[in-house]
Amino acid sequence: MTGKTVITCSKCQYNYEVEDKFLGKLLACPKCQGKFYAQTSNKNMHETIRTSASTTARMKVENIQSRRSGKSRKKLFMFLAAIPLALIIALVLWESLRFLHNSAGEKPNPVLAYNASQELLKAKSEIGNINDAIFSKKYKLETVDQKKRIFAIKTTVSLMMPNQKKPSENKISINMKYLGDEQWEFIDYSFQK
Ligand SMILES: [Zn+2]
Repeated sequence: MTGKTVITCSKCQYNYEVEDKFLGKLLACPKCQGKFYAQTSNKNMHETIRTSASTTARMKVENIQSRRSGKSRKKLFMFLAAIPLALIIALVLWESLRFLHNSAGEKPNPVLAYNASQELLKAKSEIGNINDAIFSKKYKLETVDQKKRIFAIKTTVSLMMPNQKKPSENKISINMKYLGDEQWEFIDYSFQK
Protein backbone atom coordinates (compact mmCIF):
# COMPACT_ATOMS: atom_id res chain seq x y z
CA MET A 1 0.00 0.00 0.00
CA THR A 2 1.30 3.40 -0.98
CA GLY A 3 0.43 6.52 1.00
CA LYS A 4 -2.31 8.83 -0.22
CA THR A 5 -2.78 12.51 0.40
CA VAL A 6 -5.81 14.74 0.10
CA ILE A 7 -5.09 17.55 -2.31
CA THR A 8 -7.13 20.55 -3.36
CA CYS A 9 -7.63 21.66 -6.93
CA SER A 10 -6.32 25.23 -7.09
CA LYS A 11 -9.02 26.12 -9.65
CA CYS A 12 -12.25 24.70 -8.25
CA GLN A 13 -11.17 23.88 -4.67
CA TYR A 14 -12.34 20.32 -5.07
CA ASN A 15 -10.68 17.93 -2.58
CA TYR A 16 -9.63 14.46 -3.52
CA GLU A 17 -6.83 12.10 -2.82
CA VAL A 18 -3.87 11.03 -4.85
CA GLU A 19 -1.01 8.68 -4.30
CA ASP A 20 1.87 10.45 -2.68
CA LYS A 21 4.04 9.93 -5.74
CA PHE A 22 1.91 12.51 -7.60
CA LEU A 23 2.59 15.28 -5.09
CA GLY A 24 4.27 18.23 -6.76
CA LYS A 25 3.37 16.94 -10.20
CA LEU A 26 1.16 18.65 -12.77
CA LEU A 27 -2.26 17.01 -12.60
CA ALA A 28 -5.57 17.43 -14.35
CA CYS A 29 -8.51 17.95 -11.98
CA PRO A 30 -11.17 15.22 -12.50
CA LYS A 31 -13.88 17.74 -11.69
CA CYS A 32 -13.03 20.91 -13.59
CA GLN A 33 -10.35 19.50 -15.89
CA GLY A 34 -8.09 22.36 -14.80
CA LYS A 35 -4.36 21.69 -14.58
CA PHE A 36 -2.55 22.39 -11.34
CA TYR A 37 0.39 21.17 -9.28
CA ALA A 38 -0.63 18.64 -6.67
CA GLN A 39 -0.15 20.04 -3.18
CA THR A 40 -1.38 18.84 0.13
CA SER A 41 -4.61 20.66 0.88
CA ASN A 42 -4.53 23.25 3.62
CA LYS A 43 -7.24 21.39 5.45
CA ASN A 44 -5.27 18.21 5.42
CA MET A 45 -1.80 19.63 5.72
CA HIS A 46 0.51 17.06 7.27
CA GLU A 47 -2.31 14.59 7.35
CA THR A 48 -1.73 11.64 5.15
CA ILE A 49 -4.48 9.15 4.95
CA ARG A 50 -4.48 5.69 3.61
CA THR A 51 -7.52 4.46 1.82
CA SER A 52 -8.19 1.69 -0.57
CA ALA A 53 -8.28 2.25 -4.29
CA SER A 54 -11.99 1.36 -4.25
CA THR A 55 -12.78 4.46 -2.18
CA THR A 56 -11.05 6.62 -4.76
CA ALA A 57 -12.98 4.86 -7.52
CA ARG A 58 -16.26 5.38 -5.68
CA MET A 59 -15.48 9.05 -5.20
CA LYS A 60 -14.91 9.41 -8.90
CA VAL A 61 -18.23 7.74 -9.68
CA GLU A 62 -20.08 9.94 -7.19
CA ASN A 63 -18.32 12.93 -8.63
CA ILE A 64 -19.52 12.11 -12.15
CA GLN A 65 -23.06 11.44 -10.90
CA SER A 66 -23.28 14.72 -9.05
CA ARG A 67 -22.07 16.55 -12.14
CA ARG A 68 -24.73 14.84 -14.20
CA SER A 69 -27.57 15.61 -11.80
CA GLY A 70 -26.28 19.16 -11.54
CA LYS A 71 -26.55 19.50 -15.31
CA SER A 72 -30.07 18.07 -15.45
CA ARG A 73 -31.16 20.32 -12.57
CA LYS A 74 -29.85 23.29 -14.51
CA LYS A 75 -31.76 22.13 -17.61
CA LEU A 76 -34.95 21.68 -15.60
CA PHE A 77 -34.55 25.13 -14.08
CA MET A 78 -34.06 26.71 -17.50
CA PHE A 79 -37.08 24.85 -18.82
CA LEU A 80 -39.27 26.02 -15.92
CA ALA A 81 -38.02 29.57 -16.35
CA ALA A 82 -38.85 29.42 -20.07
CA ILE A 83 -42.54 28.59 -19.47
CA PRO A 84 -43.63 32.00 -18.07
CA LEU A 85 -41.46 33.72 -20.69
CA ALA A 86 -43.17 31.78 -23.48
CA LEU A 87 -46.57 32.60 -21.98
CA ILE A 88 -45.75 36.30 -21.88
CA ILE A 89 -44.59 36.26 -25.52
CA ALA A 90 -47.74 34.37 -26.57
CA LEU A 91 -49.94 36.85 -24.69
CA VAL A 92 -48.23 39.87 -26.28
CA LEU A 93 -48.60 38.33 -29.77
CA TRP A 94 -52.23 37.45 -29.14
CA GLU A 95 -53.08 40.93 -27.90
CA SER A 96 -51.37 42.66 -30.83
CA LEU A 97 -53.11 40.35 -33.32
CA ARG A 98 -56.43 41.01 -31.62
CA PHE A 99 -55.80 44.75 -31.76
CA LEU A 100 -54.99 44.60 -35.49
CA HIS A 101 -58.05 42.49 -36.13
CA ASN A 102 -60.32 44.82 -34.15
CA SER A 103 -59.11 48.00 -35.79
CA ALA A 104 -59.66 46.42 -39.23
CA GLY A 105 -63.04 44.88 -38.41
CA GLU A 106 -64.34 47.50 -36.01
CA LYS A 107 -68.13 47.56 -36.28
CA PRO A 108 -69.71 50.98 -36.63
CA ASN A 109 -72.55 51.90 -34.32
CA PRO A 110 -75.84 51.55 -36.32
CA VAL A 111 -77.60 54.42 -34.56
CA LEU A 112 -74.73 56.82 -35.22
CA ALA A 113 -74.48 55.54 -38.79
CA TYR A 114 -78.20 56.23 -39.27
CA ASN A 115 -77.87 59.76 -37.88
CA ALA A 116 -74.82 60.39 -40.07
CA SER A 117 -76.65 59.11 -43.16
CA GLN A 118 -79.42 61.71 -42.69
CA GLU A 119 -77.00 64.57 -42.17
CA LEU A 120 -74.82 63.54 -45.11
CA LEU A 121 -77.81 63.07 -47.42
CA LYS A 122 -79.12 66.53 -46.55
CA ALA A 123 -75.70 68.12 -47.00
CA LYS A 124 -74.52 66.30 -50.11
CA SER A 125 -77.57 65.44 -52.17
CA GLU A 126 -79.80 67.65 -54.29
CA ILE A 127 -83.05 65.87 -53.57
CA GLY A 128 -86.02 68.23 -53.54
CA ASN A 129 -87.04 69.52 -50.10
CA ILE A 130 -84.70 67.00 -48.46
CA ASN A 131 -84.47 69.28 -45.43
CA ASP A 132 -88.16 68.71 -44.75
CA ALA A 133 -87.94 64.98 -45.39
CA ILE A 134 -89.06 62.64 -42.66
CA PHE A 135 -86.94 59.55 -42.18
CA SER A 136 -88.54 56.37 -40.96
CA LYS A 137 -87.49 55.16 -37.53
CA LYS A 138 -87.02 51.74 -39.12
CA TYR A 139 -83.66 51.26 -40.76
CA LYS A 140 -80.97 48.66 -41.37
CA LEU A 141 -77.21 49.04 -41.52
CA GLU A 142 -75.89 46.69 -44.19
CA THR A 143 -72.35 45.87 -45.21
CA VAL A 144 -71.77 46.59 -48.90
CA ASP A 145 -68.02 45.98 -49.08
CA GLN A 146 -66.29 44.72 -45.97
CA LYS A 147 -62.76 45.36 -47.29
CA LYS A 148 -63.46 48.89 -48.51
CA ARG A 149 -65.55 49.51 -45.38
CA ILE A 150 -68.59 50.57 -47.35
CA PHE A 151 -71.95 50.32 -45.64
CA ALA A 152 -75.50 51.20 -46.56
CA ILE A 153 -78.29 52.58 -44.43
CA LYS A 154 -81.57 51.22 -45.80
CA THR A 155 -84.67 53.06 -44.68
CA THR A 156 -87.77 54.85 -45.88
CA VAL A 157 -87.94 58.56 -46.32
CA SER A 158 -91.05 60.65 -46.76
CA LEU A 159 -90.36 63.60 -49.05
CA MET A 160 -91.80 65.83 -51.72
CA MET A 161 -90.29 65.02 -55.09
CA PRO A 162 -90.28 67.57 -57.95
CA ASN A 163 -93.63 67.63 -59.76
CA GLN A 164 -95.37 66.09 -56.75
CA LYS A 165 -98.06 67.83 -54.77
CA LYS A 166 -97.67 65.83 -51.60
CA PRO A 167 -94.85 63.88 -49.97
CA SER A 168 -94.40 60.23 -50.85
CA GLU A 169 -92.74 57.34 -49.13
CA ASN A 170 -89.51 56.24 -50.80
CA LYS A 171 -87.27 53.35 -49.96
CA ILE A 172 -83.75 54.65 -49.97
CA SER A 173 -80.28 53.18 -49.65
CA ILE A 174 -77.58 55.58 -48.52
CA ASN A 175 -74.05 54.35 -49.20
CA MET A 176 -71.27 55.56 -46.98
CA LYS A 177 -67.65 54.74 -46.31
CA TYR A 178 -66.75 54.14 -42.70
CA LEU A 179 -63.61 56.06 -41.71
CA GLY A 180 -63.49 54.57 -38.23
CA ASP A 181 -64.16 56.28 -34.93
CA GLU A 182 -67.82 56.83 -35.97
CA GLN A 183 -66.80 59.09 -38.85
CA TRP A 184 -68.53 58.64 -42.20
CA GLU A 185 -67.97 59.74 -45.76
CA PHE A 186 -70.96 60.06 -48.11
CA ILE A 187 -70.74 58.05 -51.33
CA ASP A 188 -74.16 58.08 -52.98
CA TYR A 189 -77.78 57.12 -52.54
CA SER A 190 -80.35 55.25 -54.57
CA PHE A 191 -84.08 54.81 -54.38
CA GLN A 192 -85.35 51.24 -54.23
CA LYS A 193 -88.55 49.89 -55.64
ZN1 LIG B 1 -10.69 21.45 -10.17
